[in-house]
Amino acid sequence: MSNAGIESTFAQVIVDLPGVAALDYSLPSDVAVHASIGVRCVVPLGRNTRVGIVVGFDQPVIDVSKIKPIRRALTEIEALNQHWLQLTRFAADYYQHAWGEVALPALPRALRGVPGVRYAQTLARLRAQKSPRWAEQEAQKLVHTAQQLAAIDAVATSEGYAPHLLFGVTGSGKTEVYLSAIARRLAADPTAQALLLVPEINLTPQLESSLRTRFPNENVVALHSNLADAERAAAWLAAHERRARIVVGTRLAVFSSVPHLSIIVIDEEHDPSYKAGEGVRYSARDLAVKRAQLLDIPIVLGSATPSIESWAQARAGRYRLLQLTERVGAGNASRPRPALELIDARVQKPHNGLSAPIAQALTDTLDRGEQSLVFLNRRGYAPVVTCESCGWLSKCPHCSTFAVFHKADRSLRCHHCGYTASVPRACPTCGNQNLKAVGQGTQRIEETLRALLPTAQIARIDRDSTRKRHAAKEALDAVHAGEVDVLVGTQMIAKGHDFQRVSLVVVLNPDGQLASHDFRAPERLFSTLMQVSGRAGRAGLPSRVLVQTRFPAHPLFSALARHDYSQFAEAQLAERQAARMPPSTHQALMTAEARTLQSALEFLRAAREQALQQFTVAASHVRLFDPVPMSLQRLAGVSRAQLLIEADHRAQLHTLLSGWLAALREKRTPLRWNIEVDPLEL
Ligand code: ADP
Ligand code: ZN
Ligand code: ZN
Repeated sequence: MSNAGIESTFAQVIVDLPGVAALDYSLPSDVAVHASIGVRCVVPLGRNTRVGIVVGFDQPVIDVSKIKPIRRALTEIEALNQHWLQLTRFAADYYQHAWGEVALPALPRALRGVPGVRYAQTLARLRAQKSPRWAEQEAQKLVHTAQQLAAIDAVATSEGYAPHLLFGVTGSGKTEVYLSAIARRLAADPTAQALLLVPEINLTPQLESSLRTRFPNENVVALHSNLADAERAAAWLAAHERRARIVVGTRLAVFSSVPHLSIIVIDEEHDPSYKAGEGVRYSARDLAVKRAQLLDIPIVLGSATPSIESWAQARAGRYRLLQLTERVGAGNASRPRPALELIDARVQKPHNGLSAPIAQALTDTLDRGEQSLVFLNRRGYAPVVTCESCGWLSKCPHCSTFAVFHKADRSLRCHHCGYTASVPRACPTCGNQNLKAVGQGTQRIEETLRALLPTAQIARIDRDSTRKRHAAKEALDAVHAGEVDVLVGTQMIAKGHDFQRVSLVVVLNPDGQLASHDFRAPERLFSTLMQVSGRAGRAGLPSRVLVQTRFPAHPLFSALARHDYSQFAEAQLAERQAARMPPSTHQALMTAEARTLQSALEFLRAAREQALQQFTVAASHVRLFDPVPMSLQRLAGVSRAQLLIEADHRAQLHTLLSGWLAALREKRTPLRWNIEVDPLEL
């Protein structure tokens, strides 16, 4: 669509600037012939030039003599289409940011910077880049179960916008449903493209290789933040130019340009990493559903432990519920699931982190030549170092938290701000030379395991052990190859890995999460425990799951022992409805950062007052709570406070936010503040 026939000599352009709506520019005639909606362009901005995207050709409302011309239209690649513009605009409005702040960062770096002299060569190189060849696997011929068939059929034959919640226990063959549904959509339309979102791509090499095995003749591209700029740009362009038919990626891929998108799949839809932690705090899952709705296509949200939000949607009939209740796969499909055994840590006192029954089970498993998995959600050696004579604790000087002891280099490290120091030789307060490491981290458990099982091959996977690129994959490959007897690790070992010989799963100290004040903590803990325990007994070995806890009577464990997520989810949903919490209400969280807690709180109090005074009608439908310090009150030397905003209806929340935030932005305070719509952590 060219602008040749358009009378206007002006255009609106979005750029990546906070708080700035589309800007007006004039269209010189040589640019006008190339300009169309969705074309990238180079525009002057202040003393610089920037890349923006043309979004309109309206007559400006401001004084036209002040308007500068667009320098150049970048037509070397196809314009971004209407759907993509609609999606990014929706996201910007919904999450209360400028359109350009969402749209421009969604482009790969090579396409959002002002082109240099070698632009044409760069594009040619990106287009020529072949995606890496993968070790070809023998494609399995599977006979789908009746439940799988029903799910695949439901998705593949659906018409228009059709959201499906695929609720399938771990090992029930959800991946097979995704792949077959995608295959059917691609076969039905030779131009169709598919988008598959996963929570953490460097931990799911199995999925990529399944895709490449399943679709040997299709170009499959991956999009995630671990890629080098050029790789990412090449993959993005391949999807945009329809050379790639399948895009697999992490949350950022939800904004990729996939012009013939005809099916979206979100694996592990409950996973918190779909929510962006910085910048525009979008939820890739929620946006993917919106994208399916805008495009009028099917979407599959898959999980063994769906988010309570999606559960509520299915219950209300807005998502179609598809269930896979049986485990499938090698060995025996009908074998019993591993029994959950609770070890009461108050009775069976742990020694160096492990209680006697757990040490015994680990020894027995090794003797049988089988694998064990030890899960502890805390990296480092010990969470804190203390002086027993005066009570000194290794606090981070910049945060309201402890610096964690790392034994290898005898350092104290803050996991929040990155502060690092050597462990003092003597207590800084009283000079006592006997400092003590308190509590257990994965490094310390690894040490305990090495002492307990001197002949075993032990591997550890956490953020520290996997800093090097490919380190995680190499460690996981070693586990798959059977070279590892015991794998100890954090959350990172819980996700989606198909270890064949694991017959024992040990969960250490989930108690912190049981006692958390965050209303989503039980949901998260349940799903993590379900996921780790799902690692056991995949190949049909009789297997056990042992949980060491000081609260064995907690109701969460009884639901977990029955593998009954539905009942747990129902109870959670009922509890939240009764307490008027999401999903029955809608929240936003305003946060402020300042030198002192006092000024952060004051800013929020003033903001709240302004909402009540100036936006009285809108605010009357919304609950604005008192500002409070954040749970991690100081971070990297900055004090932080938060203000929770809640409404019974989403529209009421957004009505208040749009007016109120615009007014706040105009005030220009030196203090940093942010808004998060649908916050996941409070
Ligand atoms: P989930 O994602 O639900 O945890 P997977 O998709 O990883 O489960 O499936 C578990 C294993 O079962 C995989 O190795 C897969 O190849 C295999 N599998 C899937 N469907 C079938 C089937 N119908 N018959 C036999 N094996 C299957
Ligand atoms: Zn001391
Ligand atoms: Zn810190």
